[in-house]
Amino acid sequence: MKFEINVWFRGTPKSVRDVLPADLKYVGEDLDDSTTQPGCDTLIVATPEQADRILEWGREKTDGLSNIKTLRYHDRFEIDELEGLKIVEILKQPQVDEAEIKNQKMALDVRWACEYCERLVVVQTDDLDLKITASESIQLTSNSEWVVARTLAPIFENYGHQLRPLKNNADYLQVIVSGSFDACQFAQPLRTFGNKCPGCNLQVTFRDDLIEGQPPYKGAIDEITIYRDRDISLASYGILTQGIRRSSFLIGNPRVYETPQHKIGSKIAYSKIGWLYYTLSPIFVAPAELVRELFHAGATGMDFRPVNIVSEC
Ligand SMILES: [Zn+2]
Repeated sequence: MKFEINVWFRGTPKSVRDVLPADLKYVGEDLDDSTTQPGCDTLIVATPEQADRILEWGREKTDGLSNIKTLRYHDRFEIDELEGLKIVEILKQPQVDEAEIKNQKMALDVRWACEYCERLVVVQTDDLDLKITASESIQLTSNSEWVVARTLAPIFENYGHQLRPLKNNADYLQVIVSGSFDACQFAQPLRTFGNKCPGCNLQVTFRDDLIEGQPPYKGAIDEITIYRDRDISLASYGILTQGIRRSSFLIGNPRVYETPQHKIGSKIAYSKIGWLYYTLSPIFVAPAELVRELFHAGATGMDFRPVNIVSEC
């Protein structure tokens, strides 16, 4: 297991490099220089001692604001750590960009699912036309659909998945994830926020274990916010031997209103859709055996995490 830190700075890559102390210059080496607006991030593998030093500097303040805006800790697992696991959570590797859906307007029918909150119903009506910029063989789209290199297709078919072609790209296929698992199959450490939606009972939920600081949705804050991603817990019933399953439960911060805001079933303004996807993301789980087969076939772009299996929620 490797210890990874995702560091969010407030400034541009250039301004960050200018202020990093000599012993932390390495933290700024991989910042993306195409970012010219304030706010940039990097992902580094660190020892606990390095993490402590980054945190110490991150807490120091310049003009009343902490040097670092957000720190997020991840544990990245290696393939031999799949040993003995039955089911795992699968995730896109954080440094791999999502594949953008170019024909979103034609391929996805997106409607409001509730009058009071930002829950969506998305139906795919055409093959996806993707802007794939990364070379990894497993990728996630901006709408949380898995796409995989054609060479990996037989592995997914063996687990019962249908695959759908992409437009204008014969190298990748979309994996149809038809099975879902319910909210009741989660247990802690998910963190709830605010009141349930008066329309549909949705509870806004975060999967982070917040260590310190205030959630970023409260606007600009002057203190560093530190998260640690934790393993989720699932009740094991019915999902151990099947392929990828998607949570029917969305994790994120959809807004919830006290009065009706939109009609159920009405189409969503095209310009708003990107933001709404950003605020809602499902959790995916898969058999550890499927993940092992993918890694043995040379798959790249996917991470996994153990999940805690509990007998009931
Ligand atoms: Zn609702």
